[in-house]
Amino acid sequence: MIQRDQESICALSTPSGTGALAIVRLSGPKALFIGRQIAPFLPENPQSHHAYFGRLQSAEDRGEFDEALITYFGPGRSFTGEETLEFSTHGSQNIVQELLKSLVLKGAKPATKGEFTYRAFMNGKLDLVQAESVLALIESQSALSAKQALRQLKGGLSQELENYESEIIWSLAHIEAGIDFSQEGLETVSVPELLQRLGVVQKGLSRLLSTYQQGRLVQEGVQAVLMGRPNVGKSSLLNAVLNEEKAIVTEIAGTTRDLIEAPLLVGGVRVNLIDTAGLREAQDLVEKIGIERTQRASKEADLIFFVFDAAQGLQSEEILELARLDLSRVVLVANKVDRIPDAEGLRRQTLEKLQAAGLKSSPKMLIVSALDKRSSQEQLTGALTDWLSVRQIEDQALLFQARHFERLSMAAGNLAEGLKLVAAGLSPELAALELKEALLCVQEVLGKHFDDQILDRVFKEFCIGK
Ligand code: GDP
Repeated sequence: MIQRDQESICALSTPSGTGALAIVRLSGPKALFIGRQIAPFLPENPQSHHAYFGRLQSAEDRGEFDEALITYFGPGRSFTGEETLEFSTHGSQNIVQELLKSLVLKGAKPATKGEFTYRAFMNGKLDLVQAESVLALIESQSALSAKQALRQLKGGLSQELENYESEIIWSLAHIEAGIDFSQEGLETVSVPELLQRLGVVQKGLSRLLSTYQQGRLVQEGVQAVLMGRPNVGKSSLLNAVLNEEKAIVTEIAGTTRDLIEAPLLVGGVRVNLIDTAGLREAQDLVEKIGIERTQRASKEADLIFFVFDAAQGLQSEEILELARLDLSRVVLVANKVDRIPDAEGLRRQTLEKLQAAGLKSSPKMLIVSALDKRSSQEQLTGALTDWLSVRQIEDQALLFQARHFERLSMAAGNLAEGLKLVAAGLSPELAALELKEALLCVQEVLGKHFDDQILDRVFKEFCIGK
């Protein structure tokens, strides 16, 4: 639970552990007062955005414990909006502990998770969308996701939403004035004008909502799954891709029959390539769990590499399995092409088998040999690049937080209802009600309307020091 009082708070803002330097942040109305007791070299009236250098004094009479460079930010001029000191010390854990302990002994309080960002929000330095983008930026795992979060932090989404907010307020005001003065027969705005202005908001919202799937892909990464019968060469292909990418393979759980996941970057987008347990009837419990996970992973996957053995050709049980999958997400991979003389013949035969089985569409097909690591790597990442480019994964998407998507979908629904009522010239009271709901949703995204639950949900994701 976040504290809402105005005590001064302190925390380590750089990662914990030993490093060359560490930064401890102290923020609140008494920051300078407390800071000067540990750093007596700080002047009584320091200048904002200026750095001061000197020795730090332990609050426990243990003498000087480090030299530090302290940057001072005056009230209203810092990230939190409060008076802030940033202590740049040497990065030993002992020094950091001594400094934090000394600050607490002199009256500071250890910050809770996300409390600096929370204070920035409460002091009007950031709206809620921007506070969330601080978190997204800290957590971003690819260049594109960082760029997307940074654009949001700069206010891209907030500005757009504020425009919609003021348009809805304007329309509401006119509709309500129309209700109040209806006895006098006054019409404050024409219906076509209302429809036109609200129509612009509606279009904008639906464009924004349509960016959500891409936005999420950029933030969370693409889930690509390797599936197929045992021994067709899934692990070998995974290794071929990773050898080139030098990515780290993490075993999620202990057995080879479980999922192995490896992150790689394709065109600036994070891709989680997942090797799955083999497709066959479960022989024992461990394998059963593995297979259930395979099925879950393939359901959740954005893209499925369905691997089969080129020397054996596509088997009937594999065709049955394919029929169960959404083929638009499938890329067929014929592996072990080094074992067959005629690759093109295999392609023809495979397509014929799929047609004969009545499959509606034929998936894209790669013919590879995991023994030729470079070529398999090129073909698999090539298929991923194609998949991304078809979906126009670029850095335009503005919506990537589930909370925003959910609230703005509600807003769009209310707006559509409101528009219908306005167009039909029916009940202006009901139209106003719908618009008020839409307005509330937009304002909730911006954090203009909030309750403790929303705030706790947003800020509990943060770590201490942010
Ligand atoms: P998985 O069970 O699908 O993960 O299959 P593996 O990657 O463990 O491979 C099973 C066996 O097939 C291993 O002995 C591999 O060395 C072999 N293998 C994998 N890919 C190829 C390939 O392209 N050509 C040949 N000749 N052997 C392969």
